[in-house]
Amino acid sequence: MLTDIEIAQGCKMLPITEIAKQIGIGEEELLPYGRFKAKLEDGVYERLSHNKDGKLVLVTAINPTPAGEGKTTTTIGLGQAMNKIGKKAIIALREPSLGPVFGVKGGAAGGGYAQVVPMEDINLHFTGDMHAITAANNLLCAVLDNHLQQGNPIGIDPRRILFKRVMDMNDRALREIIVGLGGKPNGVPREDGFTITVASEIMAILCLSLNLADLKRRLGDILVAYTYSNTPVYCRDLKVAGAMAALLKDALKPNLVQTLENTPALMHGGPFANIAHGCNSVRATRLGLKLADYCITEAGFGSDLGAEKFLDIKCPTAGLTPSAIVIVATARALKYNGGVPKALTGEENLSALSAGMENLRAHVENMKKYGVPVVVAINRFASDTEAELKLIEDACLALGAEFALSEVFMKGGDGALTLAQKVCEACEKPNHFAPLYETDLPVKDKIEIIAKNIYGAKGVSYSSAAEKAIKDIEALGKSSLRICIAKTQYSLSDNPALLCRPTGFELSVREVKLSAGAGFIVVITGDIMTMPGLPKVPAACNIDVDDNGNITGLF
Ligand code: ADP
Ligand code: MG
Repeated sequence: MLTDIEIAQGCKMLPITEIAKQIGIGEEELLPYGRFKAKLEDGVYERLSHNKDGKLVLVTAINPTPAGEGKTTTTIGLGQAMNKIGKKAIIALREPSLGPVFGVKGGAAGGGYAQVVPMEDINLHFTGDMHAITAANNLLCAVLDNHLQQGNPIGIDPRRILFKRVMDMNDRALREIIVGLGGKPNGVPREDGFTITVASEIMAILCLSLNLADLKRRLGDILVAYTYSNTPVYCRDLKVAGAMAALLKDALKPNLVQTLENTPALMHGGPFANIAHGCNSVRATRLGLKLADYCITEAGFGSDLGAEKFLDIKCPTAGLTPSAIVIVATARALKYNGGVPKALTGEENLSALSAGMENLRAHVENMKKYGVPVVVAINRFASDTEAELKLIEDACLALGAEFALSEVFMKGGDGALTLAQKVCEACEKPNHFAPLYETDLPVKDKIEIIAKNIYGAKGVSYSSAAEKAIKDIEALGKSSLRICIAKTQYSLSDNPALLCRPTGFELSVREVKLSAGAGFIVVITGDIMTMPGLPKVPAACNIDVDDNGNITGLF
């Protein structure tokens, strides 16, 4: 079989104006970035605002192996299949971050015959949104450090600066740094650090903002520091929210691309799900619901991370109701959860597979708690045996879960016709969607509800720093915000070594941070880092470009 990039390079893309035309968008509403990518002007949503919304389908997964379980691939393939069975569907995805592209996981444009294209552009600079977010974030940092340098009239305590610099790269050496060295002309020395762009509050704000005015208000609300006299300092106090919004003006517009089968796809915003809220922008999703009868969207990592945040943060913030949830499962990840080392997950192992099914069971039970119909998509790999697939199907039957095999990696949309049919049927079933918690509960109660109901924890413990941060948040009157938990993706618990369905553990909260602009409280658990590192052999070492500009080695 050809590699992902070879398949993508062999695709006959339609001009983006043609894709736009398919969904009723004229050239005057399109902001083209070359011939195959475009941003959509703000007027599109306003023009369609009286239209009835389509059905929202969320694609999530079980706990993954380090390679990913095929949510993006399934989301894209399902969108392609929907169109094949005569439904008008659009896909809404996150934009890739350069961190994983050059790290372990590779790109985020799907795989095999279910990809969005042009995949090289999408995985590298795309339309520049990541760079704009990075620039807006670092503008705030530069202005803040300059404030210290210029006499510090607000009285900012350099030891209590909460807002960090960002970069869209896995660069562990920047986690903890000292800035301002070199004497008086070079600023005020202080401890600082970098977060990856996709974990930044600016990314979350961009993804949750309804329009430019909302974006500007949220930027102004970012809590950046405390003064020596313990008063909070917000971004608006530094008078820089306007300039940041100016940098983000175009980044706020959703991007339009296409799949290998010319299905329209919106790709916009890209927070990771382990260290951030994990789903594409509210603006892209809302627009997708106006443009098509089905909008199929992905939330990152397992359902304990991305889906929980999609359902408890994004949906209530944006007034969205999902019509169905697709849980992607693979034999290899089930075997991995059943105790098989990653290198051996390609070999048949029915007993490990059977043990690992408990992980899928947990995710199905968790998603049912939200009152939304669930369908399991079994993402087929070439190495899966008939006996393994039968075991998964029998287990789904025993669970009372709808399921279908997905072969989109090998066959494109043709590989998910049954899945598409089942998802359409699920969308017509009774729906009692409700988020898991009420926002007016105390912060710790909300954390406990997620920890017990979704992770299966017996309780939650807090570091003294986390205890203090929660008190500070309560003192600011911000305790009614939603909760965004940063946690490993490999386990339902906060310990990546506890696979399958751990019980009896305590979730340990190390750090709590207020993202007042985004509108949530970030709760950092276990050893999770908001600036990832690179592996021993980074994916970057296999990527190249020839003298004619053809890129190889992206996957
Ligand atoms: P996720 O969105 O869950 O992280 P992706 O869809 O990005 O996962 O897939 C992760 C990797 O696995 C990609 O490189 C993709 O090409 C590959 N992949 C996904 N499904 C299959 C499959 N059925 N067979 C082979 N490779 C697959
Ligand atoms: Mg993905």
